[in-house]
Amino acid sequence: MPIISKVLIANRGEIALRVLRACKELGIATVAVHSTADADAMHVRLADESVCIGPPPSRDSYLNIHQIVAACEITGADAVHPGYGFLSENAKFADILDAHGITFIGPTADHIRIMGDKITAKETAKALGIPVVPGSAGEVLPENALQIAREIGFPVLIKATAGGGGRGMKVARNEEEVEEAVSTARSEAAAAFGNDAVYMEKYLGKPRHIEIQVVGDGEGNAIHLGERDCSLQRRHQKVWEEANSPALNVEQRMKIGEICADAMRKLKYRGAGTVEFLYENGEFYFIEMNTRLQVEHPITEAITGIDLVHEQIRVASGAGLSVTQDEIVFQGHAIECRINAEDPRTFVPSPGTITHFHAPGGLGVRVDSGAYQGYKIPPYYDSLIGKLIVHGRTRVECMMRLRRVLDEFVIDGIKTTLPLFQDLINNQDIANGDYDIHWLENYLAQPAE
Ligand code: ADP
Repeated sequence: MPIISKVLIANRGEIALRVLRACKELGIATVAVHSTADADAMHVRLADESVCIGPPPSRDSYLNIHQIVAACEITGADAVHPGYGFLSENAKFADILDAHGITFIGPTADHIRIMGDKITAKETAKALGIPVVPGSAGEVLPENALQIAREIGFPVLIKATAGGGGRGMKVARNEEEVEEAVSTARSEAAAAFGNDAVYMEKYLGKPRHIEIQVVGDGEGNAIHLGERDCSLQRRHQKVWEEANSPALNVEQRMKIGEICADAMRKLKYRGAGTVEFLYENGEFYFIEMNTRLQVEHPITEAITGIDLVHEQIRVASGAGLSVTQDEIVFQGHAIECRINAEDPRTFVPSPGTITHFHAPGGLGVRVDSGAYQGYKIPPYYDSLIGKLIVHGRTRVECMMRLRRVLDEFVIDGIKTTLPLFQDLINNQDIANGDYDIHWLENYLAQPAE
């Protein structure tokens, strides 16, 4: 493999550890960066070298491009892996690294830009042959909103062009609601993203969220690694993900997968990416593409045996993909539970010290976490403290294993979302795989038993 000899991991927590493990397996040296709040973090302890890049607030440390480039120069890192979140979808960061002769382990800055703007992303997807949600051709302005809504048909959803994390989204169920929905979405978008542009889509009533994992080599070769079903969400945040989706059969999987892989070939996409869809009544509707590794990538790794971070590093170094589409075999079923340091019912964050930590084990069990006994969770960052990934030959076996593993997992001293999963694993709809994107919020709205 042509040379990337030292990777700086511009992230923290479980994903920094995840990337570090892949680098070690490939014999690549690692540099951790951290804020002063993360000096004792596991990714810092396990890295070959570490550099403190600033005080706790992310904007001064993990989002501080100058400090990160300086850390590369000091340590001689020749590549940066951005993980997810933080600078992973920041085109300017990719450009700056490029200007410094440092390899960005991710797509080109142009592809990040195209997919980072939801209107351009949708237009591009459509032109590449991907089915999209019916909606406005471009930006929606207050003066043309009603006309466009009538053409699409009610209900409609107003979404921020610069959107992310479900912010700046408003539903209008009838003509009377359009004006208000557009103006609220515009002001929310301006506040959250500094850009008030919005667009409009048909609002789907009971869809599932199904996404396709792709990897491209930047030269016109690309593969898909099947789908993940991430319909179990709370406030647009994914909570439980599965691969394969309980809703798809092999033909549907290969058809939509091939559409996405083909689109990536035409785009000459480089790196890992996820094409996200809503799925309703047998139809797929593109909503966005994430140009990075995703939190839930391990369930895809479980059913394909392919290490996605290895593939990212391979294509970034020009070594190409390690597999062809024909060589990919989908085996069994995998489920990921996101373990957050939060109250399992109210989701209020619960930072603090972990007094006792025991991770489960056994066949088909993977725990990706930077947590350990005595670890103090800082209050400044995302509350994800670990991911539990369970694999079985069938969905039933996977669920049986998950039930056992959840009983074995001990995290004391703070509140976590583990008890939520113990409830979900005993629920009949979950057992049947019968849920849509609203299921979890409806479930949580019921009084606890
Ligand atoms: P963001 O980037 O803010 O997360 P997305 O476009 O990915 O925005 O949408 C986030 C979530 O919002 C989806 O997973 C889905 O739950 C809901 N959503 C988005 N578009 C639609 C739509 N047209 N109809 C119904 N729900 C939608």
